[in-house]
Amino acid sequence: MEEVKILLGERDMPRTWYNIIPDLPLPLPPVLHPATGKPIGPDDLAPLFPMALIAQEVSGERHVEIPEDVRRVYRMWRPTPLVRARNLERALQTPAHIYFKNESVSPAGSHKPNTAVAQAYYNKVEGVRRLTTETGAGQWGSALALACRLFGLECKVYMVKISYQQKPYRRSLMQTWGAEVTPSPSSETNAGRQVLARDPDSLGSLGIAISEAVEVAAQNPDTKYSLGSVLNHVLLHQTIIGEEALAQMALADDYPDVVIGCVGGGSNFAGLAFPFIRERMTRGLDTRFVAVEPTACPSMTKGVWAYDFGDTVGLTPLIKMFTLGHTFVPVGIHAGGLRYHGVAPALSVLVQGGIVQPVAYPQTAVFEAAVLFARSEGIVPAPESAHAIRAAVDEAIRCREEGVRRTILFNLSGHGHFDMAAYDEYLAGRLQDYAYPEEKVREALHVLPQVPQEP
Ligand SMILES: *Cc1c(COP(=O)(O)O)cnc(C)c1O
Repeated sequence: MEEVKILLGERDMPRTWYNIIPDLPLPLPPVLHPATGKPIGPDDLAPLFPMALIAQEVSGERHVEIPEDVRRVYRMWRPTPLVRARNLERALQTPAHIYFKNESVSPAGSHKPNTAVAQAYYNKVEGVRRLTTETGAGQWGSALALACRLFGLECKVYMVKISYQQKPYRRSLMQTWGAEVTPSPSSETNAGRQVLARDPDSLGSLGIAISEAVEVAAQNPDTKYSLGSVLNHVLLHQTIIGEEALAQMALADDYPDVVIGCVGGGSNFAGLAFPFIRERMTRGLDTRFVAVEPTACPSMTKGVWAYDFGDTVGLTPLIKMFTLGHTFVPVGIHAGGLRYHGVAPALSVLVQGGIVQPVAYPQTAVFEAAVLFARSEGIVPAPESAHAIRAAVDEAIRCREEGVRRTILFNLSGHGHFDMAAYDEYLAGRLQDYAYPEEKVREALHVLPQVPQEP
């Protein structure tokens, strides 16, 4: 029988998340206080995050137990299927085995609830009443809206204005789950008002929305802030994806030669790849890891590994990461979830260390792969996920040309049911490619914060 879905039972769902920090090839550079340039401590983060998440952020423990209340919610859609993309293999006439981990089956349609649920849980346990956050394309906002609902928290979402306009149904989804949604930049916060004073027509950016959400959390004792990517604890929660995939690849009696994921802040990539990176290190394998970004927001392929702010206004601590500079405002490409100026510090270290290879694709090539995938595997992928599909397809084509069979595993981080306007544009031939110009990158890098001295 040709097996298509490789399924784990609920009882076999992994009981721990994997923390890669103690296993990184280079030590993770400390997060610095923006005023003093000194490493920050738990007290600096306490206004924004609950203690349990701060502890996870700096934890040296390899395996972190998943609380039973989180596991109970995960079981609403987890374990997610691992799928052998046999129709895609046939369409490409490739000897490669192509597998994808289908994270689109969550209620919010992406991998993001894996961390939203965990974050809502730890906040609830510590008596927090409300969470604030930002959202780009709307996936993170909807994931947090769902998680807050399930744990009885209020949810306040600052949504990047261009997405608020382009994706009204993501807003409806958040509101259906009971969240309050405000287009960003807004006049509710100092950060928002500052941006609007300079540019009243600003379409916003993730960085600006972060500034707004952080400001509100910092000023209200019953409110904390929640971030959907980049931070260590977010990547940690996502590793359930890779832990499941490892067990499923074993059930399929196969193992990936290449692991591929798209990168916005790096969480879905890390979620799938980190457990396989652990296996590579402990078992001496030569698995390749490919991180895919848009040419319009080329943090890893054109940015630098440097200390930078996580937001636009400069309120957050300084994080050493691949960045295009915190003042970077991307063009309105359709993969809204990939429009952030930096990537996760842990992923940055792995790119710097040569364990993860970054690659960038323009959006028409990405949508071409998305449509091929939809027409062979049936699932309409999120434009973000289609970046991973593009790289997987190219890898499979190389296998055909070289006449070798390699096993390819990619993360289908979400579905594209709320992105049909983007598909309309593509099908009408109206999508434009955009490569972020070299001189703009250099300009943005001029305003990187000065760090007194690298610790
Ligand atoms: C948010 C999002 C991404 C990008 O975020 P990462 O933290 O890099 O995973 C990718 N795919 C989907 C479907 C998303 O919602």
